[in-house]
Amino acid sequence: MGLAGLSAGSVLYELHASLWAWIFLLFTAFVWPHIAYLHSRSSQDTVAAEKQNLFLDSIFIGLWLPLMHFSPLPSVVIPMITTLDKSYTVYPRLWLHSLLALLGSALLFGSVLMAPPKFETSTLVVLCTIPLMFFYTWFNSYRGARLLSVVTRQNWAFDQQRRTDPQSGLSARAHWMECAEEIFKRAFVSGKPPCLLLIDVDRFKSINDTYGHTVGDEVICEVGRVVHECVRQGDIAGRFGGDEFVVIVEHAGYEEAYDIAERIRNDIANLRLISAETLQVTGSIGLALVSDRHANLRAWIEEADAALYRAKHTGRNRVSLANDENRSLT
Ligand code: GH3
Ligand code: MG
Repeated sequence: MGLAGLSAGSVLYELHASLWAWIFLLFTAFVWPHIAYLHSRSSQDTVAAEKQNLFLDSIFIGLWLPLMHFSPLPSVVIPMITTLDKSYTVYPRLWLHSLLALLGSALLFGSVLMAPPKFETSTLVVLCTIPLMFFYTWFNSYRGARLLSVVTRQNWAFDQQRRTDPQSGLSARAHWMECAEEIFKRAFVSGKPPCLLLIDVDRFKSINDTYGHTVGDEVICEVGRVVHECVRQGDIAGRFGGDEFVVIVEHAGYEEAYDIAERIRNDIANLRLISAETLQVTGSIGLALVSDRHANLRAWIEEADAALYRAKHTGRNRVSLANDENRSLT
């Protein structure tokens, strides 16, 4: 408003405007913005107060036009900026309403004032309008760049949120499935086919029932940490849902994958929670090597699930191998 006031003031100066015109211009350009700021700061409904302020801005600018005898350059630049500024707000049609208010007040006051239009723009007026044009363009570029960086950062944060399970810190199910699909597609390309570990906390329901859900949640966090610490860099570890975790061990043999599974099982069994010192947590693990029997990822997961089921039914706290009951690695 101040820079617009400089532009309008140069016209008033050339027109030898009355004291009242000067008082009105100085008030609207330099005093009103502060009143508007205090109004929206002190208002209960800040959004409604800001809307009123922006609307009044437009009416005041409309009143400036007849005062400037519709001097061409400021009469185009100032209303254009006033209207464009409204399109950056979150109120969809505020720019249209404010444009109508601006034109309405200009016509009404113009017909009362009967101000004859001034058709040329002097060098002084051009020079006094340049700061407004320059700073408004610069400020808009700056605002656009800042907005872009905020949106980029937020998109990244949303993506991270979508990828990560907040409780365990491992990959969330949907993201894990995306990665697993990719690995399944290239499963037979490398020399060592990947292995899938399906890990489930034993008797988790009774942990919840005995120690409460808060301790149950803590167990999920701790098991997530154990899984994260036991896998190698590049292995894809995720939380499948509830008390079930899943890992794909790539570029390792059956034996190495089994070792990782055993380490996970062992570390879960050694977990101690400060909030529930008597609690003994164990987990069962089903392990399945990918093979050409698996038509898709689902078939592979189902085989690991069948192995997990066997681990549960043969005493829990153990690693069970899919379709390979006779194979002994221990
Ligand atoms: P099993 O040894 O056969 O696995 O028995 P279980 O009691 O662990 O059975 P299951 O794995 O089916 O139980 C999962 C339970 O985990 C069911 C649900 O109430 C509980 N649960 C799922 N998600 C959460 C969670 O985020 N926090 C807590 N505290 N409990 C959860
Ligand atoms: Mg369970």
